[in-house]
Amino acid sequence: MNGEFAVIGLGRFGGSIVRELSKNGYDVLAIDSDEERVNEYMGIATHSVIADTTDENVLKSLGIRNFDHVIVAIGENIQASILTTLILKELGVKSITVKATNDYHEKVLRKIGADFIVHPERDMGVRIANGLMSSNILDYLDLSQEFSIVEIKVSDRMANKTLIDLDLRSKYGANVVAIKRGENVMISLQADEVIEKGDYLVVIGENEDLDRLERAIHKVKS
Ligand code: ATP
Repeated sequence: MNGEFAVIGLGRFGGSIVRELSKNGYDVLAIDSDEERVNEYMGIATHSVIADTTDENVLKSLGIRNFDHVIVAIGENIQASILTTLILKELGVKSITVKATNDYHEKVLRKIGADFIVHPERDMGVRIANGLMSSNILDYLDLSQEFSIVEIKVSDRMANKTLIDLDLRSKYGANVVAIKRGENVMISLQADEVIEKGDYLVVIGENEDLDRLERAIHKVKS
């Protein structure tokens, strides 16, 4: 079977990936060793199969190497997650994303060559905490240990100024990549773009610089 995506492990995390990909029209093969979980995804995924993915022959018979992306969403059973990833790697799967449960799990996954490692609970916790710490920040995305993207609410003092007036790049090393205005997202911004009250600026920069920018907005507000 040829296809775009295969998702192994249909818990909440793997299941939501299957749902979202399917909703957006992608072919998804959903795999789990638990029959009930597989039945749940019968009408949602393109194909659903009951299989133990720690068995190399099973993965081969599913033609797993033909998939562009394989997502390993087995969390609790770390041994099964590692073994599955190792076999996928050996079979030559191009892109493997794996859910890690702890730092040790992540370290092993890195060693065996997982392409993308995610910690859904930890990452979402960090994101929500950053949102809670400031009423000015709508959303937050960690790009690396040093860089992030944040959505910052425009303060009253910033409103009706142009991007060049604000000059966030030279003052804070922060680059405005988009402006969110109601339902609209504006990209390809010009320097003379006028910021309006109620806008959110989507800003990329080093964490230290973004903190400085955020504190400056607070100061302006008080
Ligand atoms: P989530 O936090 O995403 O809800 P969960 O805690 O419900 O996950 P996990 O134990 O992380 O569940 O496992 C996710 C799924 O992976 C389960 O449905 C489980 O049956 C499946 N699974 C575990 N081992 C294997 C395996 N060797 N082959 C295929 N599927 C497996």
